[in-house]
Amino acid sequence: MILVFQNTFKLGFNVIKIRGGNLVSKKPSKAFKACLKCKALVAVEVEACPICGSKDFSTEWSGIVIVLDPEKSVVAKLLGIKTPGRYAIKVGA
Ligand SMILES: [Zn+2]
Repeated sequence: MILVFQNTFKLGFNVIKIRGGNLVSKKPSKAFKACLKCKALVAVEVEACPICGSKDFSTEWSGIVIVLDPEKSVVAKLLGIKTPGRYAIKVGA
């Protein structure tokens, strides 16, 4: 199950807990870029992906999923995520 907020949050990084150990939120800002290889979201000033080491990023992404426990997360399996962290649901324009 993937749940993405359509509301616009005015402050910070609001998240909701859903079943399967995921937290999902609408993107809070363009302060993040998404790794093209593994979809990890990192700060724009980061040069190499902390998850996979790739240096290819895109600022065109939508949806955030925060994976806390990849073992229990259906979403993590769907997205091929094996490392806890913050990921974009969709990368690319
Ligand atoms: Zn990566």
